[in-house]
Amino acid sequence: MEKDSIISRLKKGSHCLVFATNNQHKLSEVRQILGDAYEVVGLKDIGCTEDIPETADTLEGNALQKAHFVHEHYGYDCFADDTGLEVEALDGLPGVHTARYAELFGEGATHDSDANMNLLLKNLANKSNRNARFRTVIAFIFQGREYLFEGICPGTIISERHGTEGFGYDPIFQPEGYDRCFAEMSAEEKNAISHRGRATQKLAEFLLNVFNEK
Ligand code: IMP
Repeated sequence: MEKDSIISRLKKGSHCLVFATNNQHKLSEVRQILGDAYEVVGLKDIGCTEDIPETADTLEGNALQKAHFVHEHYGYDCFADDTGLEVEALDGLPGVHTARYAELFGEGATHDSDANMNLLLKNLANKSNRNARFRTVIAFIFQGREYLFEGICPGTIISERHGTEGFGYDPIFQPEGYDRCFAEMSAEEKNAISHRGRATQKLAEFLLNVFNEK
């Protein structure tokens, strides 16, 4: 994307929003949900290449930390998300540690999905309760105020990987009411029911109200 024209659109206050991520899966999921009315740009598009700190001990805290970082350093209205996989039999873990589960509690790097899934499957090996939920919090810094939107997707952790779509824990997470896991669904199907889809839907409704009032 052409950086100068993005920045001039952001400065003019047109429907161009910064999503504080470089994750292409997330960017395309959110773009699909927000549709044509909003142009969503990522960190790379505004020239932000540094690692944004995520040191809070809650999803809400991390999402706010990332959104505030972009607002303070670049001056744009911005939203950021944080997602946790909360597993009942593990007292809500990996939760806020979902990206770094293997790194913190086993062996592996941040966002090493294979290592994360292996550790989770190992820790659930002798558990009959496989209930879990994905929870996403989106923090939006808009005209100097903070807004939070939450999306929850309940489901179960299956014992073997299935499918090739999506990312992260998608091959082992089966949403409630379905006999397929996220990695066996199209992006459209996942977005309609996913944690991030639900949180983004709330953000979209908020934006619609704001822009309709103008
Ligand atoms: P993040 O904080 O949103 O980057 O997500 C934390 C961790 O959760 C990462 O390791 C992701 O792989 C995982 N994760 C986030 N969203 C999803 C999803 O929709 N499906 C599967 N895994 C996810």
